[in-house]
Amino acid sequence: MARRRIIAGNWKMNKTPSEAVALCNELKDLVKNDDVDVVYCVPAIDIVPVAEAVKGTNVHVGAENFYIEDKGAFTGEISAPMLKEAGVEYVIIGHSERRDIFGENDILINQKVKKAFASGLTPIMCCGESLALRKAGTYKEWIARQIKWDLTDITADQVKTLVIAYEPIWAIGTGETATADQAEEVCKMIREIIADLYDQATADAVRIQYGGSMNAGNAAELLSKPNIDGGLIGGASLKPDFGQIVNA
Ligand code: PEP
Repeated sequence: MARRRIIAGNWKMNKTPSEAVALCNELKDLVKNDDVDVVYCVPAIDIVPVAEAVKGTNVHVGAENFYIEDKGAFTGEISAPMLKEAGVEYVIIGHSERRDIFGENDILINQKVKKAFASGLTPIMCCGESLALRKAGTYKEWIARQIKWDLTDITADQVKTLVIAYEPIWAIGTGETATADQAEEVCKMIREIIADLYDQATADAVRIQYGGSMNAGNAAELLSKPNIDGGLIGGASLKPDFGQIVNA
């Protein structure tokens, strides 16, 4: 089944609002490709200026995080309706930096996936193992457990529109990429898990990205694999290289 490719940049805590607009302008011509969904997941304060800067282009706006309540006494947080009104379509959920630095667990991640769908946002739901789990050989069980927890009570129709990002933690920001075969092994396994949890049509529809030091040099090989439908890109999303990844 043909799935539409999705290349998303995760800008993390980089770029002030003016720098964000400058980056949009720098990348504008480089990321043109009508066959690919291109997404910039940007810091909350950059969402409004980036949405304005990409208007009329093929770029979609994403957020890096949000909280599960619509409004109220949650100092420092931002809600799904706020994101939606500002033009956000995608939101990263369960990134390893949110799990490891900010203590987010699979219960909260599942709540966020539910809330995102209820609010009309498409989750980019992250999973992946640490180096210790990879070395111990238990990474497949770990990832399977993450997927099951994070998708609790999510329907097949919702999963068909979901994006799952497989991001081995040992490959994030380290310059060490999973080989294309290592990435494909896990992305294929994730699709099989979705087939088991739901059905084959759902597994065939869900889009699965690889993330972890993807760059202009390795993107084409990773993206050539049958179960890798795109990439979640950190460091290289802040550079003209991102255009080469989009067009790899
Ligand atoms: C990420 O954090 O989502 C990521 C993939 O980062 P990098 O590309 O820098 O490894």
